[in-house]
Amino acid sequence: MQTIGLVGGMSWHSTATYYRLINEEVAVRLGGHASARISLQSLDFAEVRDCQVRGDWAGSAALLADAARRCEAGGADLVGLCTNLMHKNFPAMESAVSVPAIHIADAVAAVARREGWTTLGLLGTRWVMEETFYADRLATQGIAVVVPEEDERAMVDRVVFDELTQGVLRDESRAAYVEVMAGLRARGADAVVLACTEIGLLVSPEQAPLPVVDSAVAHASLLVDLALEPQPTPA
Ligand code: GLU
Repeated sequence: MQTIGLVGGMSWHSTATYYRLINEEVAVRLGGHASARISLQSLDFAEVRDCQVRGDWAGSAALLADAARRCEAGGADLVGLCTNLMHKNFPAMESAVSVPAIHIADAVAAVARREGWTTLGLLGTRWVMEETFYADRLATQGIAVVVPEEDERAMVDRVVFDELTQGVLRDESRAAYVEVMAGLRARGADAVVLACTEIGLLVSPEQAPLPVVDSAVAHASLLVDLALEPQPTPA
């Protein structure tokens, strides 16, 4: 088994989900007392959020690159970044390490392709919904996106930062998200991607009005697949 590097803490509520899912998956696949080898760097989200609000993406890139290096120094054989939004800085993080960095949107695209879904509704922070870095990565794998209307995007983003990343789960927000999801379905989405790693804590697949790809679940599962892949034996 390889060691999975996690750059997390954005927020810790969803990194806890990654930690649990990865260990559960390894236990199921290997049985007995097996658990995952993990090298975790959990950042102070206040520092990252401060960079986001100031638009200091160079500053956040430096934080992520440094964290990924520390993951690798801690034994990671591959690295995952446990947030969708911060994949805006994926190139900087990827180039900071010599081990593979596994993009969260690739994990999402793999699930969509397996299920035969070609158009995904995109729910996440405003940068994920409004900029191209995330949708472009999906597009390279044949997946198109539809995004919520402007007022809906503002609400979805506000709930992420005022509530979900602070561990607050409100029934009114769940209902509002479900309504937005229904709108995405009406506009042609085959499924909705929860492209913020905390949304799955608020809305379960059973509560959603269309099929769901939870980015945290998809990413954690791909990281386990790769960590358990047989390694070539040295000659
Ligand atoms: N966890 C969230 C995401 O997946 C947002 C928090 C953040 O990284 O700013 O995009």
